[in-house]
Amino acid sequence: MIQDTKLTPMMKQYVDAKQDLPPGTVLLFRLGDFYEEFFEDAEKVSSALDLVLTKRQGVPMCGFPHHALDSYLSRLIAKGFKVAIAEQLEDPREAKGIIKRKITRIITPGTLIDNNLLNSSDNNFIAAVYPVDDSHAALSGLDVSTGEFFFTPTVGMDTVSSELARLGVKEVIMPESGAENLRRSNNFPDPGQKVLWTELEDHKFDFEYCERHLRIQFETSTLDGFGMRSYPDSVRAAGALLRYAEENLRRDASYITSIHRHSFDSFLEIDSTSMRNLELVSNRNDGTKNGSLLAVLDHTSTSLGSRRLRSWLLRPLRDFSGIERRLNVIEQFVSDPLTLTELRETLGVIRDLERITARINVGNASPRDYIALSASLDAIPGIRTLLENFNANLIADCLQNLPDFGELAARINETLDDDPPAQLGDGGVIRAGFSEELDRLRLLSGNGKSMLADIQQRESERTGIKSLKVKFNNVFGYYIEVSKSNLDAVPADYVRKQTLVNAERFITPELKDLENRILGAEERARSLEASLFAELRQFALEFTDAIQKAANALADIDALAGLAECARVNNYVRPSIFEDNRLVIEGGRHPVLDNVMSPGTFVPNDLNLNRPGYTLRMMIITGPNMAGKSTYIRQNALLVIMAQMGSFIPAERAEIGLVDRIFTRIGAGDDLSRNQSTFMVEMVETSNILRSATKNSFVILDEVGRGTSTYDGLAIAWSVAEYLNEQIACRTLFATHYHELTTLPEVSYPGIANFSVAVREHGNEVIFLRQIVPGRSPRSYGIHVARLAGVPDEVVRRANQILGKLEQTPDSARDVVRDLANQPRPTVRKGKKKKYFDDDDDNMLKLIFN
Ligand code: ADP
Ligand code: MG
Repeated sequence: MIQDTKLTPMMKQYVDAKQDLPPGTVLLFRLGDFYEEFFEDAEKVSSALDLVLTKRQGVPMCGFPHHALDSYLSRLIAKGFKVAIAEQLEDPREAKGIIKRKITRIITPGTLIDNNLLNSSDNNFIAAVYPVDDSHAALSGLDVSTGEFFFTPTVGMDTVSSELARLGVKEVIMPESGAENLRRSNNFPDPGQKVLWTELEDHKFDFEYCERHLRIQFETSTLDGFGMRSYPDSVRAAGALLRYAEENLRRDASYITSIHRHSFDSFLEIDSTSMRNLELVSNRNDGTKNGSLLAVLDHTSTSLGSRRLRSWLLRPLRDFSGIERRLNVIEQFVSDPLTLTELRETLGVIRDLERITARINVGNASPRDYIALSASLDAIPGIRTLLENFNANLIADCLQNLPDFGELAARINETLDDDPPAQLGDGGVIRAGFSEELDRLRLLSGNGKSMLADIQQRESERTGIKSLKVKFNNVFGYYIEVSKSNLDAVPADYVRKQTLVNAERFITPELKDLENRILGAEERARSLEASLFAELRQFALEFTDAIQKAANALADIDALAGLAECARVNNYVRPSIFEDNRLVIEGGRHPVLDNVMSPGTFVPNDLNLNRPGYTLRMMIITGPNMAGKSTYIRQNALLVIMAQMGSFIPAERAEIGLVDRIFTRIGAGDDLSRNQSTFMVEMVETSNILRSATKNSFVILDEVGRGTSTYDGLAIAWSVAEYLNEQIACRTLFATHYHELTTLPEVSYPGIANFSVAVREHGNEVIFLRQIVPGRSPRSYGIHVARLAGVPDEVVRRANQILGKLEQTPDSARDVVRDLANQPRPTVRKGKKKKYFDDDDDNMLKLIFN
């Protein structure tokens, strides 16, 4: 318990600052050269960071040196802490009484802006979710480090969940009262994500308040121009989000000048499960980028381009012309490798313009940020010249946003030293010759320093004390230090200031006089530097909008150049895009495996769905374990995604009919990495597919039904296949170990055909040919695989014996399939809308998940 009466003035200041903070925020309190934490904060921080916890007057405390702030901060943020920093606002030497301190910013995982805390190739999104009812919510997202700000109309919870996953959101805010509901709803929050959930008071989402705040921010009288008119709930989410970010940054985020609507119609939707299953941006083993599709594709030269590429990959396009625009550029880049190489090299000079601009705006850009900005701007004319070799709409659009920034670059270069220190306060930031006044002050303090050296030498000679030193500290400025053994030699004009164990400290009038001149000059130089730097910032602020546009154009160009480079080194081709439902791929390769296997070893395969004149929607794919079924179906999903993001693809030729959504279901047998009730997860995902897929979707199913008993699983797999083929009629690849399903195409199921992965039997060996061929696999080869895996001979022989017997008995399941194939499907009365889970189901779920 903190008792006010006992508090020292400084502790009182601490407690006051702490009371201003949102609950759960840890306060780092600057005391001299340290950041200190007290009370419960000290306990939390010391255990999180392994710091020594001490007690002073019964108050627990811990701390670390100020220069180590960044590394401790990043560790605290990574552990999910919200951290407030209280800085000293006065120079300790000048302060009268207790130094003024103020909270200068609050840092949460979602509102980072410092370069060293951010990952350059990822956006750092924070999102607000405003639940409208049990299963719908409005969503808004913001990256304070770049200024990107968007909202979605009210959407289903599945969509919210996949958006949060796609954005890799680090923190989500939501109204207190809706939080409970949100957590109850299906699959939300997404189990795969580490997210900080921050609940805010409901009134922070108040419509009037939010609307007004956004209008003031965007300096408009209405939000209609941003397409927000019909979306009051999105206004609440966006307004609350912006406000939260500003409260944390402790300043207006004036560089956030607009908001755009995320529409879902113009993008190929990939749900969060598929993102994971297909290992688009991270692998499923350790969650890193290694082995992901992104790792293969990312040949970008800048962090702008790398972030752009990632967002293209997770949001491929669905409109013909948008895709063609990108493909056209890549085609031209690929056909001119020399210019491409030079372009990529030149792009390599461009620093993270989005984040630098954001930091300039909030006022914590370092001198080096400005130098990086000017170097980047200087590279733009060269990029323009190279791009003029090409002729594509997209490039022309980009060029429009790449003006000459010579004026700004020149201003930065003439103002700042070429190699300035990291912090303004370190001095030496402004270039010599830029300000006469500054040069004069510097000379003065520089001279002063050499005069100090002279004094030291002279006094040392005069007194005969060899070890005599002139030193400085914050308490009494410059002084002369003499060790105990030499005290006899100290002259009478020295004034004693302090006695240490081994030495005494003295001052002289001459020393004091010089000190005043040096410190005065240094002080004035420092404040002059600060004001010249502030003028430079003011000048740069005028360019905010233009730099943001240029950064956007450069991100596009770099992403395209990277894709072109990837296409060139890996031998990709341009896919042809169609506005129908065909999916024709000749000689397709799995982009990741193709990359890691030695050249020419990966066996290419074709895909032929809805080739004009033929109706084939669904392939049932069978074949022994390890034959290559999963690889094949994933490969085709990846190729569709690549094509629609506007990339070339690893194939000989391809015709892609635009896909609206991709769904994947990887069965329990292949998904051991999760420890939930895998069958339940599998069914939740299957249900999502059946409810959301359309005729234009592409569905890949791998071993559906594996997690339960044979008949259960078969029955489900079979009726799912029927439903997809008959009710939805989407393009589907269905890999299965249920051989009974291969009966489907044999008995009048138009649109479905059997395929298998070819193998050759060689004596007792099975040789995998990796080739997808028409027709079902003759058997499942499980016993062969068991033998290959070293199962003892006795067991293998016995299994063969049992199998032989089983295969002689009538194939009852097959007969059932045949019988039921043409029977009318059971009908369900539509109308009464069921809540996603009712109470009974809830109890059932508890049973399953415990
Ligand atoms: P299944 O799903 O049929 O059990 P997988 O698709 O998991 O088999 O493939 C097993 C392994 O076979 C893969 O990890 C890969 O190394 C190899 N493989 C699969 N397809 C090919 C191919 N087309 N060319 C070369 N190797 C392949
Ligand atoms: Mg498999």
